[in-house]
Amino acid sequence: MKVKSYIRIGHELAPVEVELSLSPGLPQILFLGLPDTALKESTLRIRSAIREQGFQLPQAQQVLVHLRPTHLKKSSRGLDLAVAAALLWETGQVECPDLEGLAPTLYGELTLKGEVLRPDDTDEIEDGPVWTGPGPAMSVQVRELTHLKDLVSPSWIEAKDSATRVTRPACSVGTFPKPAAEVARVVAAGEHPALFAGPPGGGKSTLVDAIPSWLEEPREDELRLARKIARRVGREITWRPVAKPHHSITPLAMIGGGSSVWAGEISRAHGGVLIMDELLEFHPAIQEALREPMETGSISIVRGGAARTYPARCLLLGTANLCRCGKFVPGKDLNACRCPNAVRKRVVARLSGPFVDRFTMLVFTDEWRKSGFAVPVEEIFQGVQSAIEFRKKARGQLLPNAQIPSSEFEQSLTDFQRQHLLDDATLPSRRRRDAVIRVSRTLADLEGSVSIENRHLDQANRLCVYPHRLLEASLD
Ligand SMILES: [Zn+2]
Repeated sequence: MKVKSYIRIGHELAPVEVELSLSPGLPQILFLGLPDTALKESTLRIRSAIREQGFQLPQAQQVLVHLRPTHLKKSSRGLDLAVAAALLWETGQVECPDLEGLAPTLYGELTLKGEVLRPDDTDEIEDGPVWTGPGPAMSVQVRELTHLKDLVSPSWIEAKDSATRVTRPACSVGTFPKPAAEVARVVAAGEHPALFAGPPGGGKSTLVDAIPSWLEEPREDELRLARKIARRVGREITWRPVAKPHHSITPLAMIGGGSSVWAGEISRAHGGVLIMDELLEFHPAIQEALREPMETGSISIVRGGAARTYPARCLLLGTANLCRCGKFVPGKDLNACRCPNAVRKRVVARLSGPFVDRFTMLVFTDEWRKSGFAVPVEEIFQGVQSAIEFRKKARGQLLPNAQIPSSEFEQSLTDFQRQHLLDDATLPSRRRRDAVIRVSRTLADLEGSVSIENRHLDQANRLCVYPHRLLEASLD
């Protein structure tokens, strides 16, 4: 009797062929093909479940379970059901299902009483149908072993896979200062990478931590991939992933690689947010390595001559102090900062150039605390959601503005706007130009405006060009 199931090989859930045969010998269940300890323990559950459900174990025969591929050490959370069902079918205690010659795929955990549980990694299985415990995914749902008798001609339950539960995280802060709220709406609605710089205690880290809770709901395929990646490090997620590595993280842990080549924090943020608090404290090699994924949404790692590419499309949010004392803000009174000129310039120099140019927005946060207005988080959230709705409805655009080539938005601009508000002379680089166009589109979405108006371009310039300029100027 051959059936199919799934096993875990390292981090992957891989298909396995389960061949069950009976041979004279001591009554026991033997796994062949490198089972691990957990898998050997499953024989206890299988034996107990079969007895509890009123079936018999073979009396003077041993049950051999052969697992292919054979050469890899394996474990499984769901092999119980496959083995138990194959045994009941092989011994004729349950009539074999009519599957037109196809071996069924079974993946379920058994309780000692014989109930079938759906393992929590079932949603990694992409090629259905699979026989498993009750749940909403496309499957043949087996409640307990005796239920197999009713499933002689199983009908596939084509329910939409909603096993991927989505829970928006709660925001722990009640209000934000108005300038912070305004910028947060743009960042969250368009998913534009942003760097927040200013004195400590200004609220920049609090805002950055809150932004993931306002983002668009993850798409199902996105969440499935993110969950798969998260599970490799033993995490379960129900929302877009947020990676927030400490600045002492090694380039290897951040980027991925190592002897058994594996993805780093940047890939764990795929489909979600990568937060880099105290950006300047990170190893310079990390800044360097992040340029590729910020541009392409993936990262290639070369080890021992083999290159692997990992997904790494995420919203990068950073915070930074612009000098050692933290009081320096470009364009503002220099007397507040007590750092020697040379020290300050060294810090700022680390921030300038190609890396900071990849942040669509650079936001100085020194004025936030002085702002009298406080905006409730509900209002920020509603603003972001209505901009996302507008984007989908008005343009049928599924991806956030940050992931759309700026040329698509540029087509709709007037000649005047192109000549005067996107003037090459005032825009220092191609990236600044892209940033202004994309952010102006998001500002228009936030207002529910079909066209990008002059005021949107003006405001986008203030968000995407002036701060970068001030930073450069402070180096002179
Ligand atoms: Zn200072």
